[in-house]
Amino acid sequence: MPVATHKTYVSMLNQALRDGYAFPAINVLQIDTLNAAIEGFSDARSDGIVQISVAAGAHTSGALNQPVLGAITLAEHAHRLAEAHGVLVAIHTDHCSTGKVDSFLKPLIRETEKRRAAGLPNLFHSHMYDGSDRPLRENLAVAVDLLKRCRDNEIILEVEAGVVGGEEDGIQGAPSAKLYTTPDDMLRVYESLSAVEGGRFMLAATFGNVHGVYKPGHVLLKPGILKEGQDAVVARYGESARFWLVFHGGSGTSVEEIHEAIGYGVVKMNIHTDTQYEFTRGVADHMFRHYDGVLRIDGEVGVKADYLSSAWLEKGRVRMAAHVAGACGVLQSSGRTLAEKL
Ligand SMILES: [Zn+2]
Repeated sequence: MPVATHKTYVSMLNQALRDGYAFPAINVLQIDTLNAAIEGFSDARSDGIVQISVAAGAHTSGALNQPVLGAITLAEHAHRLAEAHGVLVAIHTDHCSTGKVDSFLKPLIRETEKRRAAGLPNLFHSHMYDGSDRPLRENLAVAVDLLKRCRDNEIILEVEAGVVGGEEDGIQGAPSAKLYTTPDDMLRVYESLSAVEGGRFMLAATFGNVHGVYKPGHVLLKPGILKEGQDAVVARYGESARFWLVFHGGSGTSVEEIHEAIGYGVVKMNIHTDTQYEFTRGVADHMFRHYDGVLRIDGEVGVKADYLSSAWLEKGRVRMAAHVAGACGVLQSSGRTLAEKL
């Protein structure tokens, strides 16, 4: 049963926190990138997380532009595909801003509720609410409400405090001190969310990270921010209060900085930009190499085997899967699947 359950997902995150590694959380936009992500985990013998954004859901539903429909479609495919691979896969939804909670997050939680009522396993194992565009008090008020519903359905909630720079789904982060979450912010997050008894949550704290790709030197990463926050929370509330931290906007980060962040409790690292590039790089390579086959030039008819969409999408998939397997190596989740221990 290689789709994660709530229980095995919690074990995955706890073991990663204890043993000092992290899971790649790969953004998937359609079935091909979803296949690539799970193949990459499987090749690395790593458990992993696939995540679906509002935009990915919209894309998958085509002209209907229905993010909920598309997200459910991808999640159902992930369930079926993961069954056939020997690693645990958790299914997550990515950044959902406050304005989209009612139209995206809540309908997806309802979908899980319906499945649970019918005796079926959860469709999603975790959701992310991104209230980082709101003052922390407002952000946490929405998060607490969502966490209660998630708790009732064995779903983990990811929240974000502070602003990640760069652009994610049209939200432009502001370059300011808010790029760095303070220990006081982390205490407030812990206090608000731990008040929901039985609720399980992850925190994306910001430490200078930027969404999308950036050239070295553009921002100053300070992973030590995470340590200061964890230390403050653990000093006041004990070891069990240590956060499962999430690293957003890590493209272009050095391996040393990633390992430092993992040492401070990062157990999930979002990976989007680099895997998208690798997918497209594989497709572009195909197009350039088979230029005369994919196009009908000078009265010729092209080569169907070259322009079949499955032929060039496969090139992207294979290249992206290799990158995902490499990411498992960097995050040191390779060879550590819990699937065999079940
Ligand atoms: Zn973020």
